[in-house]
Amino acid sequence: MTNTYILVPGSAPTGGLMPIAAQFGGTTTLVVIGDRSQAEAAAESGADRVVWFPTGSDEPAEAFASAVARLVASEPGPVLAGRDPASRVLLGAAAAALGAPVIVGAREVNAVADGYRVTAEVFGGIALRTTEVDGPVALLVDGGATVDGCPPAPVIEQPVVGLPIAQLSLQVDKGAVAHLGSAARVVAVGRGLRSQDDLSLVKELATALGAELGCTRPLAEGLDWLGRDRYIGISGQQIAPELYLALGISGQLQHIAGARRADVIVAVNTDEKAPIVAEADYLLVGDLYDVVPALTSAMGATP
Ligand SMILES: Cc1cc2nc3c(=O)[nH]c(=O)nc-3n(C[C@H](O)[C@H](O)[C@H](O)COP(=O)(O)OP(=O)(O)OC[C@H]3O[C@@H](n4cnc5c(N)ncnc54)[C@H](O)[C@@H]3O)c2cc1C
Repeated sequence: MTNTYILVPGSAPTGGLMPIAAQFGGTTTLVVIGDRSQAEAAAESGADRVVWFPTGSDEPAEAFASAVARLVASEPGPVLAGRDPASRVLLGAAAAALGAPVIVGAREVNAVADGYRVTAEVFGGIALRTTEVDGPVALLVDGGATVDGCPPAPVIEQPVVGLPIAQLSLQVDKGAVAHLGSAARVVAVGRGLRSQDDLSLVKELATALGAELGCTRPLAEGLDWLGRDRYIGISGQQIAPELYLALGISGQLQHIAGARRADVIVAVNTDEKAPIVAEADYLLVGDLYDVVPALTSAMGATP
């Protein structure tokens, strides 16, 4: 029987990981690195059991990578984690300790004679590649939304000593913590915006729509107007919201590959021939400096 492990540093979401784990059959174990309330919350996400490594507030999740590797080696099986920064680091370190390859963006998995066959997205989801892995495998998949409300699974507390890493300080810019992967609505902006100060216009619309704020890569890398966790695309966040509103975004392949799974794409662009037009369900040809305040106002908020 396959034992599949899902790594949950803190309260990382598991909604996108559970369906992949289910494809292996067998049992699913959530390995929670955090406090008791996080372990108990994870226990309601539909797994068979939770193994909880309690942490001190100054211990980063990656300090427990070797403890994760020892747990997995005791009852070997595939290891999954989400794409958020803490999960990436933990999975990478645990995979290195296990000697397991890391495959990103798995869609379909099957156990085969000596290992696993994995079909995963490549080039931002425009192609699928199938590989076979002998022995252990680690999969990095979109965490999706947080799941709760399932009958609680048993929580097995396993106190372990982490590696000697201590966090000295933590500076969180609350406005910079993005939850794009699980957002129902995303408003994103590109180089059609003329200045960083004008971001306030877009933020007001995002707030009025109850949407997360996203952007194209040049705004996050280069201009540095928004955090790097906010850019969408082949090398950024993959999103699947109900609504994706793209403001002043040309829609180059590297960007749109991260937004194609949106149910509805609405583009606002001055250029009716921009590449995003081919991807959009609705196109508003116009200047975002006119359209955005009008939309915010139509939503009942003051632009
Ligand atoms: C290896 C690689 C990886 C990459 N990965 C990513 C990635 O993950 N994500 C990503 O986003 N990009 C990525 N890029 C960059 C990508 O190729 C594009 O350069 C980038 O997405 C373009 O950003 P943009 O749409 O904001 O800018 P532009 O392409 O300059 O488009 C600006 C758009 O705004 C419109 N506009 C101008 N003024 C207005 C106005 N007042 N009102 C309305 N519309 C207006 C213009 O008509 C134009 O369509 C990558 C590139 C490479 C080489």
